[in-house]
Amino acid sequence: MQEDGIVPPGSVIGILGGGQLGRMLAIAAARLGYRCRIFAPEADPPAARVADGHHCAAYEDEKALSDFAAQVDAITLEFENIPTETIEFLARHKPVRPGARLLAVSQDRLREKEAINALDIATAPFCPVDGLDGLHKALQSIGMPAILKTRRFGYDGKGQAAIRNEEDIAPAWEAMAGAPAILEGFVDFTCEISVIVARNSRGEIAIHGPVENRHRNHILDVTIAPAPIAPAMAEAACALGRRLAAGLELTGLMTAELFVTADGRLLVNEIAPRTHNSGHFTIEACHTSQFEQAIRALCGLPLGDPGQHARAVMKNLIGDDARHWREILSDGRAHLHLYGKEEARPGRKMGHVTWLYPDAGNDGDSKMPWPPAQLPEIPQAPAE
Ligand code: AMP
Repeated sequence: MQEDGIVPPGSVIGILGGGQLGRMLAIAAARLGYRCRIFAPEADPPAARVADGHHCAAYEDEKALSDFAAQVDAITLEFENIPTETIEFLARHKPVRPGARLLAVSQDRLREKEAINALDIATAPFCPVDGLDGLHKALQSIGMPAILKTRRFGYDGKGQAAIRNEEDIAPAWEAMAGAPAILEGFVDFTCEISVIVARNSRGEIAIHGPVENRHRNHILDVTIAPAPIAPAMAEAACALGRRLAAGLELTGLMTAELFVTADGRLLVNEIAPRTHNSGHFTIEACHTSQFEQAIRALCGLPLGDPGQHARAVMKNLIGDDARHWREILSDGRAHLHLYGKEEARPGRKMGHVTWLYPDAGNDGDSKMPWPPAQLPEIPQAPAE
């Protein structure tokens, strides 16, 4: 690192986590002349295949962490369930961005909501729950319907149970398997959106989005960019992203998932201290992708222009969807990304496709309205 805090091209970036986000981060870093080393406990993870080295060790292995820190100039992460102690240990040797505080907030749904509300930003109403008695009490204040979620380690709808009536209460608590939980009021949302916020060490901020995210089986299915919402709502989402980034003292890049409620409010669902599946469209549709922006923010470079030069739809390839790469490629304008994962387990993110719509818009001059009436579909794989 230079005296001005800049980590110049030619330096080595360390990435904690080895999944597809790390893979696309490493590809973006390589374009800017950086080298990357991946720290991940799995053998042969997707990110390691496009990086300069892989430290295959547990996140608690201090010897391996010291060795990793010695070989890199700055560190970031692509996965939030990394022990905060790991980040604190590494931060004694090299800059880690985003840092341990934001990571700790994002790992615990209770701390996360408290930190967001402390910035005067709204979330769903919530109440911590540590037992069945506590759940009954929490339901008296939150009401039904509600959602019980584990405070930690939940993703893609895992560790969640809906409570619609009395009969749902005991099974919902059982589904938590004794883990500390949080009860959230059920939000009557019209759509789910996200913004991706980058902030560098000089406090400069750049925002991608908002985009609309549609889920299938609790997993992100499609992102529509930009979100087809009123301009005032989009501006409010960006303003909220700025306040979150400044209030949480972000250096690096983070994502905020938001609900747009039926009565026109924005509520934060969750934050992630990293690039996000809903930002994959930025690779082809924006002047600067979320991955390049994350590298710029980490390394103290000027932030790039996050503006979109074409409207876009991104669709995830889940499980067997990726077997249709031939059909997908037969459309010469489909941007196919495959993550190189060997086993296509159900629910596993294997790749994604982005389509650009340069002629779409709602300005009267456009040939096609936004969003497209028919979203692209991936053929479903026949059972073998
Ligand atoms: P999460 O793991 O918190 O991102 O939740 C996964 C999905 O469950 C979200 O994308 C929403 O579709 C839905 N969800 C989560 N929390 C709520 C809530 N409080 N009210 C309504 N839907 C929710």
